[in-house]
Formats: sequence, structure tokens, C-alpha cells
Amino acid sequence: MSAKIIDGKRLSQEVRTECQARAARLAGKGTQPGLAVVIVGDNPASTVYVRNKAKACSETGIYSEVHEFAESTTEEEVIGRIQELNRDAKIHGILVQLPLPRHFDSSKVIASVAVEKDVDGFHLYNVGALVTGSSIFPPCTPNGVMKMLEKYDIPIEGQHAVIVGRSNIVGKPMALMLLHEGATVTICTSRTRHLSEYTSRADILVVAVGKPRMITAPMVKPGATVIDVGINRLPDGKLAGDVDFESVKEKAGYITPVPGGVGPMTIAMLLYNTVVAAEQAYVRLQGS
Ligand code: NDP
Repeated sequence: MSAKIIDGKRLSQEVRTECQARAARLAGKGTQPGLAVVIVGDNPASTVYVRNKAKACSETGIYSEVHEFAESTTEEEVIGRIQELNRDAKIHGILVQLPLPRHFDSSKVIASVAVEKDVDGFHLYNVGALVTGSSIFPPCTPNGVMKMLEKYDIPIEGQHAVIVGRSNIVGKPMALMLLHEGATVTICTSRTRHLSEYTSRADILVVAVGKPRMITAPMVKPGATVIDVGINRLPDGKLAGDVDFESVKEKAGYITPVPGGVGPMTIAMLLYNTVVAAEQAYVRLQGS
């Protein structure tokens, strides 16, 4: 039997509609949510992501600015601009588009973002808060995955979740979020021996590797929920996930497509975090 498709496009629209309503309510009280995106260099993929984020903001009633820097810019210059944005009252969220050029220390740049404006959830304070289960801004991609599981009533507690990939922006926070919800979590990496022995025991399988169609049907447990975070550009220009969708959908219980799965949810959760940041700023303003 064919798996149910988790429709990230539709779900992201629901989240966006909620964000739009909350943004309008705040704007009515004199605070329009504002997001600043900082981009260094001209990585084509990053440029597309930034354009999409700016478009999503304007469709949601969120003010946005893009701060572009040449590849040759110094770290100090970028940090200087972030510090200005930290003080800018019309900006509630600051996002540093990754990856930064090689001569940058990314963790230093991210650490310069004010914690209350860290809508990407990458600041060490937010990372630590996530470990203890009290995060203000959960990172957007794994948070989008959690939203998908919630909206499709997919049980997490007591389930075996296997995450393939241990990046700071997807794999590790994903594992923590599932752990907080009571899953038994296994993390696999490039060093894992006999990967399919783990993936084929997963009730929930989240794949964030960056290798097109590496997860095939024999690696998946019948009826499992398969979440494909990967976005890979194929030589013919088309997009593919890390999961071989056509074969795995015949075996899984639920599956996310690429495109139209986790990608749109990531942007929606960024809008959500920006609205929350603006609401918190408004409350602080009232209290001061
Ligand atoms: P990284 O390159 O930072 O991490 C990839 C991870 O995959 C690493 O932990 C690596 O292990 C692991 N890995 C590599 N090869 C294997 C293998 N053969 N078996 C098991 N594990 C392996 O990638 P990201 O987490 O940033 O992104 C992963 C994918 O998700 C990419 O395609 C990216 O484009 C996409 N992405 C999509 C988003 C969305 O919104 N949908 C958002 C962010 C990313 P090790 O640590 O040992 O090297």
C-alpha cells in the first residue's frame, strides 16, 4: 500500500496564515514584525533562499531587509552591522545566511546576534536552552518536522526515531526535539557501520545527509514515517531528496516529498519565530 504523503506545502500555508493574522494584530498595535537577513558572498543557492525568505515575509505582513556583503568583506564589518541590527527597534529577528565564506568564524558571527533576535535558533544560548528543553527559538527545519508530525497525529512517545545526519542545524536539534517528546533516538553519521540495520528499525526515520536518494526501500521498516530533509540539485536541474521517494513510498506509512515537504515548513517556521520575537519585544516595550 502506498504511503500517505505529508503535504508540507499545505501545512506551511496553515502556519503562514496564522503568522499573517498575528503579524496584523501586532501591526495594529504599532509593531510590525521585522526580519533582517545577512548574506555574505554570492553562493547561488543562498541567494535563492534569501530571495524566497524576503518574498515570504512580504506575503505575511513582515517587514524585511537584506544586508548583502561581498565575499571579501571582513568578519568585523559583518559583526558591526549585526550589532547595529541588534539595536534597531524595527528589527525583531536577525538571520545570518549560512554557509559564510571560509575566512569567517561562523560561531563568532552567530554569537553576535542578540539572543532575543536569534530567530534561527543557532546562538549558543538557544542551543543550550534546546538541550534543557526550554528553547525560545527552536531551529526552523527540525521545528518544521515536529509540526508535521503533530499535524498528522504521528505518535512520537515510545517510538524509535532514527536520524541520519548530525549537523548542528538539522540532525542534532532534531534528535533533541524527538528525545524531549519521548522517542528513543538513534543518530547515524558517515561513520555508522551497517546503516540499514538502524534505518530499517526506525518507526520515524529523518534523513538529513545531502546525498540524492541514498535511502532505498529495503532500508525502511514497513509502515514507518519517513521525513526527507535533503535537498539535492540533480545534473538535469531537478530537485531530489535523500530518500528514493518512488520506491520508499510503497513501503512507508507516511512520507514527505521533495520538493513540497520539509523545505516550505522551514520558511514557515522562520516566519513564526519572527512573529514570536516581535510579540515578545512588544510585551517588553509595554513593561518598560
Ligand atoms: P551537513 O553536510 O552539515 O551534514 C550532513 C550529515 O550527513 C553529516 O552529519 C554526515 O556525517 C552525514 N552523512 C554523510 N554521509 C553519510 C552517509 N553515507 N551515511 C550516514 N550519514 C552520512 O548537511 P545539513 O544537515 O546542513 O543538510 C543535510 C541536507 O539537508 C542537505 O541536502 C541540505 O541541503 C538539506 N537541508 C534542507 C533544509 C530544508 O529546509 N529542507 C534545511 C537545511 C538543510 P558526518 O558528520 O560523520 O560527516
